[in-house]
Amino acid sequence: MAMLDLQKPEASCASPPEILRERGQREVFCGLTGIIWLHRKIQDAFFLVVGSRTCAHLIQSAAGVMIFAEPRFATAIIDERDLAGLADANAELDRVVNRLLERRPDIKLLFLVGSCPSEVIKLDLSRAAQRLSRSFEPRVRVLNYSGSGIETTFTQGEDACLAALVPSLPAAPATAPRELLVVGALADVVEDQFKRIFERLGIGPVRFMPPRSALDLPQVGPGTRYLLAQPFLGDTARALDDRGAKWLPAAFPLGAEGTTAWLRAAADAWGVDPEHFGAVTAAHRARAETALARYRAKLEGKSVFFFPDSQLEVPLARFLTREMGMRAVEVGTPYLHRQHLAADLAMLPADQAYSEGQHVDNQLDRCRAARPDITVCGLGLANPLEAEGLTTKWSIELLFTPIQGYEQAGDLAELFARPLERRARLAA
Ligand code: SF4
Repeated sequence: MAMLDLQKPEASCASPPEILRERGQREVFCGLTGIIWLHRKIQDAFFLVVGSRTCAHLIQSAAGVMIFAEPRFATAIIDERDLAGLADANAELDRVVNRLLERRPDIKLLFLVGSCPSEVIKLDLSRAAQRLSRSFEPRVRVLNYSGSGIETTFTQGEDACLAALVPSLPAAPATAPRELLVVGALADVVEDQFKRIFERLGIGPVRFMPPRSALDLPQVGPGTRYLLAQPFLGDTARALDDRGAKWLPAAFPLGAEGTTAWLRAAADAWGVDPEHFGAVTAAHRARAETALARYRAKLEGKSVFFFPDSQLEVPLARFLTREMGMRAVEVGTPYLHRQHLAADLAMLPADQAYSEGQHVDNQLDRCRAARPDITVCGLGLANPLEAEGLTTKWSIELLFTPIQGYEQAGDLAELFARPLERRARLAA
C-alpha cells in the first residue's frame, strides 16, 4: 500500500405522489466525490481514501485545478499484493497513517474512507479507525465511513461522513439552552449570510455541521433543533434523532420561496413574531426576486428532465417550476426521502411524474421521447445527450456552486439559463 498525494501544493401535506421505481444500470459517481467539497469545509480534517488507482483518479480529476500548499486528501493505494492477501493491509495502513500524521501536525481529524476495493478485500476500516484513534487521541481523532460506489451515489458520501461524525459530538448538558443546528455542508459565504439572518430574527445559538474546524464540534442533545440544508442526509438525521435532537420539517433553501420556508420553520420553532419575520426577510426576498426576474424570461415555459443523480432533484424541480415557470417532465432521483422532502413535494403539481432509482436505458428512452429543453444529469450522460442535440446541465455543479439562500437565488437560476443561451447561440 502506498500513499498517493492527489493535490499539490410553505407547504401543505398532499397525498403521497405516484413514483415509478426503477432498478437497473446506473450512471452516477460514487460517494468519494463528496470529499471534494467536504475537505474545503472542515479545514483541519484529512480524507484518506483506502482504494485503488481508479479511486485516486476519480478524485484527482474531480478536484481538478485545486492547488493547496498541503493537500487535505490522498489515496492509500491497495495494490496487487494487498488484493492477493500477500500483504497485511492493516499493518500497511498503520504505516501510511503514522507517516502522514508525523508529517502533518495540522491534521486534527482523519477520515479513513472506504471504497469498492477496500470492501472487496473486507478491510475493516471501523476497527482500523478505532485502533488508530487509540494511538493518536487526543491529538487526532480517526473516524471512518464508506464512499464505495457499490450501491451509493455521490452525495451519499457526505451523508456517510456526517453520520460518522455524530457519535463524536459532545453531549449537551440537560440544562443547555435550545440550540439550532444547521446540518449539511454549505459554502462559508452562505453560512455567514444565514448566521446574520438568524441573529436578526433572534434565533440562536446557531451552529453548523460540518464545522469549519474539527476542534469546534457542535454539542447535541434534547435541546437541539436541526434544519437540514441538504436533502440527502437521511443517515445523519437518524443519528441525530438517536442523540435526542429534533428535526424541523421544512422545504429546502433553494430560491426565494424555498429559503423563506426554510427560515420560517426555525422562526416558528423559536416563536418569532410573523411581522418581525417579514421585516427581517423583506429586503432579502426583494433582492432575490429581482435577481430571479432577470432569468424568468429565459426559463419560463421551458421543460426540464431530471436524471437521478444528486438527490437535489425534488427541491430543484420545485424551484424551477414554481419560481421560474418551467415544467418538469420527469423528476428522477436516486432515493426519495418522503419525510424530508414532504414540504417540497407538496408544492409540486399533484400529477408530477417522479422516478426513484435508475434503469438508465429506460430513462434515456423517455428523455429522448420528451425532448426536454434542458436535461439535468451526470457527466457521463451529458456529452452523449449533447451530441444528440439535447441541452444538459451537470448536476454535480449544483454541489460545487453556492446555490442556497436569498443572495444565491439568481446564481441558481443562471445555472439553468446559461446552457439554454449557449445552445441558442450555437443554433444562431
Ligand atoms: S470507490 Fe468504487 S466506484 Fe468509486 S472510484 Fe473507487 S472503485 Fe470506482
